[in-house]
Amino acid sequence: MDLLEYQGKQLFARHGLRVSSGKAVQTVAGAVEAAAEIGYPVVVKAQVLIGGRGKAGGVKLADDEHSLREHAGNILGMDIKGHTVRTVWIEHASDIASEYYASILLDRSAKKPLLMFSIEGGVDIEEVAEKTPEKLIRHHIDPLAGLSREEALRVAADGKADEDIREGVADALVALYEVWLQEDATLAEINPLIVTPEREVKALDSKVSLDGNALYRHPENQSLSDAENEDPLERRAKEEGVQYVKLDGDIGILGNGAGLVMSTLDVVAQAGGSPANFLDAGGGSNAETIKQAVDLILANKAVKAVLFNIFGGITRCDEVAEGLIAAFGEIKPTVPFVVRLDGTNDEAGRRLLAEAALPNVHPAKTMNEAAEKVVALAAGRPLEGSA
Ligand code: GDP
Ligand code: MN
Repeated sequence: MDLLEYQGKQLFARHGLRVSSGKAVQTVAGAVEAAAEIGYPVVVKAQVLIGGRGKAGGVKLADDEHSLREHAGNILGMDIKGHTVRTVWIEHASDIASEYYASILLDRSAKKPLLMFSIEGGVDIEEVAEKTPEKLIRHHIDPLAGLSREEALRVAADGKADEDIREGVADALVALYEVWLQEDATLAEINPLIVTPEREVKALDSKVSLDGNALYRHPENQSLSDAENEDPLERRAKEEGVQYVKLDGDIGILGNGAGLVMSTLDVVAQAGGSPANFLDAGGGSNAETIKQAVDLILANKAVKAVLFNIFGGITRCDEVAEGLIAAFGEIKPTVPFVVRLDGTNDEAGRRLLAEAALPNVHPAKTMNEAAEKVVALAAGRPLEGSA
């Protein structure tokens, strides 16, 4: 779960990392009001889940109300790499002496958190890593011992941070690790971590991703999920408790069990198709869940055909068939369905489907056959030898 800059900064502040206070607003009038409170000069920053806002014109300084109105007006509604700006963050502008970089992420191969630090911040850090790798300090943190202040000071020294602010940098790194650890983040990045002319070290930007699976441990963070940027179908699925991920293709997918659904995505892709979603109806899917799932899959208007791939274990194929029949009764889908039922009560399920004679529902015996059929149907090709 990715956080907007200002949300990340709020987490930073909670752990003692220095940030400028500010206000998130959605209108020019709101921006003017916020700036009057905060005091000019202010910086107006587009709040979108994508980097490079500065280069795209989404970060502007304003010395007075006149230029604030102009910038806020331009940035609100702006498109930044496909993300529409609906919120801007207004904070008191900082004076900058140096721009550093700091981040912590999980290095899966080392099985440890990785702290990265560089005095070449404010720019694309990939470029620093590529052209001058010696300027990017990489330090693995022992997850049991944590990050000590001495260790953080050493990282600041290794990175050749100005001597007079190494203490401040170390404090920031220790606080950043606390954010990463205590908030169950998978990434906590500051670019730039600035040094002001008054020799203060503070976070001018934030990029934080929280582990969505750990969110239950942080009820106070649950409201941070950015509802306005979240896909509306995924949001609805979450509310309904359905395991659904929206994808870019046109073939709706339903299976039971995450492994089976993932294999189904692969098989459909192999057959030349492009899945529109991942949907795991779960073990023990009953008629009601199936109906709800069909509704969700078809709410995506890109879907041209749907593949049901059910392997009956705890899930009974006859129940799935009943769910599908009930769904057809209520929703009356206009796109073709391919249904593969295998396992517990599969014969009964197929019999129910045959008796119901649902329009445009095609049985398949194997996964490969099902995938080929659904890809053909989505492309508008007739099925060979089928009614
Ligand atoms: P990004 O482009 O999405 O990474 O957005 P940032 O928040 O990192 O801002 C981009 C750049 O704008 C920074 O590297 C700074 O150079 C500049 N900037 C942002 N805030 C301020 C500020 O308060 N004062 C000054 N002088 N420059 C700022
Ligand atoms: Mn940045």
